[in-house]
Amino acid sequence: MEDRKEAKNPLKNPVKYLKGVGPHWEKLLKKFNIIQIGDIFFHIPRLYIDRSTISKIENIKIGETATILGEVISFESRRLRKRMGMQTALLKDEPGGLIFLKWFKQPYLKKVLKKGVKIMASGEVTFYKGKQMVHPDFEIITDEESKRLHTGRIVPFYPLTEGMFQKRVRKIIDNGITLYLDCLEETLPDWIIKEEKLLPIKEAIYKIHRPMTFNDIKHAKKRLIFEELFYLELLLALRRKRLKIRKTNVQIKKEGKLVCDFIKLLPYDLTNDQKKVIKEIRDDFLSGKPMHRMLQGDVGSGKTVVAIIASLIIIESGYQVAIMAPTEILTEQHYLGVGKTLKSIGVNNALLIGSVKPREKKKIYKSLENGEIDLIFGTHALIEDVVRFKNLGLVTVDEQHRFGVLQRAKLLAKGETPHFLVMTATPIPRTLSMTLYGDLDVSVINEMPPGRKDIITRWTGEKNRTKLYDFIRKKIKKGEQCYIIYPLVEESEKMDLKAATEMYNYLKENVFTSEGVGLLHGRMKTEEKEEIMKAFREKEIMVLVSTTVIEVGIDMPEATIMVIEHPERFGLSQLHQMRGRVGRGDKKSYCILLSPGHISDEARERLKTIESTMNGFKIAEKDLQLRGPGEFFGTKQHGLPDLRFADLISDGIILQKARTKAFEVIDNDPQLLQLENKCVRERYITKYREKDKLGDVL
Ligand code: ADP
Ligand code: MG
Repeated sequence: MEDRKEAKNPLKNPVKYLKGVGPHWEKLLKKFNIIQIGDIFFHIPRLYIDRSTISKIENIKIGETATILGEVISFESRRLRKRMGMQTALLKDEPGGLIFLKWFKQPYLKKVLKKGVKIMASGEVTFYKGKQMVHPDFEIITDEESKRLHTGRIVPFYPLTEGMFQKRVRKIIDNGITLYLDCLEETLPDWIIKEEKLLPIKEAIYKIHRPMTFNDIKHAKKRLIFEELFYLELLLALRRKRLKIRKTNVQIKKEGKLVCDFIKLLPYDLTNDQKKVIKEIRDDFLSGKPMHRMLQGDVGSGKTVVAIIASLIIIESGYQVAIMAPTEILTEQHYLGVGKTLKSIGVNNALLIGSVKPREKKKIYKSLENGEIDLIFGTHALIEDVVRFKNLGLVTVDEQHRFGVLQRAKLLAKGETPHFLVMTATPIPRTLSMTLYGDLDVSVINEMPPGRKDIITRWTGEKNRTKLYDFIRKKIKKGEQCYIIYPLVEESEKMDLKAATEMYNYLKENVFTSEGVGLLHGRMKTEEKEEIMKAFREKEIMVLVSTTVIEVGIDMPEATIMVIEHPERFGLSQLHQMRGRVGRGDKKSYCILLSPGHISDEARERLKTIESTMNGFKIAEKDLQLRGPGEFFGTKQHGLPDLRFADLISDGIILQKARTKAFEVIDNDPQLLQLENKCVRERYITKYREKDKLGDVL
């Protein structure tokens, strides 16, 4: 049945059957994912130029932007200094206006702008020995048809790739509109179109490609943006619905002895926020439904201990727990930080990361499968197929935004509807968190553990290096300690490591000769690292040169200075995380960013931001602004569909509306069976046929 329908709908025919597209253009269009005829409607202009009024050359004024139509009466190609060519065409229109059109380079124009050719040009009018336009947009006008298409209106300019040219694309799309727009089916229910005052899809597509006014374009775009966000939210609404009706078999015992044992061993009291979150998690466990919760809290707010306590509740009830972090270092920190304490209260735990020896790995796989291991700390290594659990009850993921939806789904699939907790130090602007995590409940830790001091942050350069070393020496005399961080970038790991090692040697031999300098990097064995950390804790080492190893987890109250070398190579949230390693005791702490003189404007922005604020939320927003949501969240990884028309940040208001409508639809008609939602159901299925398999797990 499906097939017959496809055959009947001409929009599903290959695009090569559209007038103006042959096999050659079919290949070109494919680069934009234009495969079927219907796809061309959604190839949206990247800009429009208003050629609705064609001016007479006589009448245009200097400084104005205008469109003119005329005939080339002469052409000159000149060579300027530095081998740069300049092309000049003299254009004449009726009754007798003259203007120079000039281009630098582009020698091929000589062949194009021959005497007698009619062209239309748009650009700003300037003056040099007469009226001129420099680098105007222009098009050659051959006949009435091309005059209609390319002039005398608001003309669309489409994205092109190599081998394509504007006029042909314009022609192809225009043919598509004329011949097939009528076949395009509505994809939003009538009532939504009415309530939101949206354009029907046909009208929107028409106006996007053949606008009469700029307002047309605005309305048309709004419709496309709304629709895109509506279907994104619909996906989330469905996921959430599914979660709400799912049950879990992970039953919780109410005693909580393990938790008590553990809390007794903590050298501090839990903050109120930590207690609040633990209660929220416990309530989830008791609800009979799988927990699906995100825990947000700034760096150092104490999320780890919350995750551990949540784990203990689950373990006491006879299930296993997996805690996954994005890097080996982070994972190791977790393990080194609490592993021993947990063992002392009878919780068997282990570390599974890529660098664990194969023999050891096999042992771990076995004990996970037979249930001997209660708690496993791990990286992506946990996701591998060989990893099987006896009865996985809780999955916790740290620093969530570095993992994709697929990855978390894969880990969750290793248990029978286990509970799920994600932790992130990145406060996410509300509109975004709604979209990206619309299916999660959220807990927030606002309160920092007591006694945290502000950190003085200074961004400086080479010229202050000696002064800085003097300063550090002075602090060391008072018993304070210092971290010096070197960036280690994956691509240039070897060289970076060499730089860090050289720096370490230099400092040891020339600068801090009697203070005790240590080196810590990711390539060291776990035991070696432990040894170095121990020496730092016992103050045999006062200056710790480190690669980004200490980005997380280490907690030394006497460490008051953090020097970051090449801070321009770190991201904002990374810098913020690292800085969080000092300021943990009662003394004033410092973070010094030591950058070279020549850095990019973007890096400059980053360092200025870090210098001026300690507020994790502001930093995250800036990070988002500088990098854009795609990179910031790795939206691709999230398994979210790519957004073609909408921008999650600037279209926040439309997003909100689309979300409300999508949730309304799903609340009233969870399976999209009602007639008025038929089009939604169909569109949803074509759009997410593959991706929605995820929804079954999540
Ligand atoms: P993050 O939220 O960044 O993961 P951590 O869990 O690493 O933070 O906690 C930061 C530090 O604060 C840890 O060394 C931890 O021992 C300590 N900590 C956590 N909770 C408290 C508390 N309630 N009081 C004092 N220190 C705490
Ligand atoms: Mg943490």
